[in-house]
Amino acid sequence: MKDISILALFGINTDELENYHVEDNEPGALSISVSKRKTFSSCPCCEVLTNKIKDYQNKTYFFRNINGYDLKVFFKHRRYWCPECNKSFMESNPFINTHNYKLT
Ligand SMILES: [Zn+2]
Repeated sequence: MKDISILALFGINTDELENYHVEDNEPGALSISVSKRKTFSSCPCCEVLTNKIKDYQNKTYFFRNINGYDLKVFFKHRRYWCPECNKSFMESNPFINTHNYKLT
């Protein structure tokens, strides 16, 4: 199964994704590497829209029994930089605030 529709459970539209890669080399387990497209985001401090990238953080999440699969997500989490107030902030992360699933 090389099916990324499982990401819809996290509210992700695959059109939002810049890149993804699915591996299913173990029975009952899936690994997905994913990054989102660059978009204009509103600075939480001054609300100016910016698409300037400061850096990235690689994050790993584990979810148990998602449609019968143990899911491992490698998320390339982008940090934007605001030229107006010189602060940085993370893009929205669809893999947190998923209270239904166990995060480790
Ligand atoms: Zn700002």
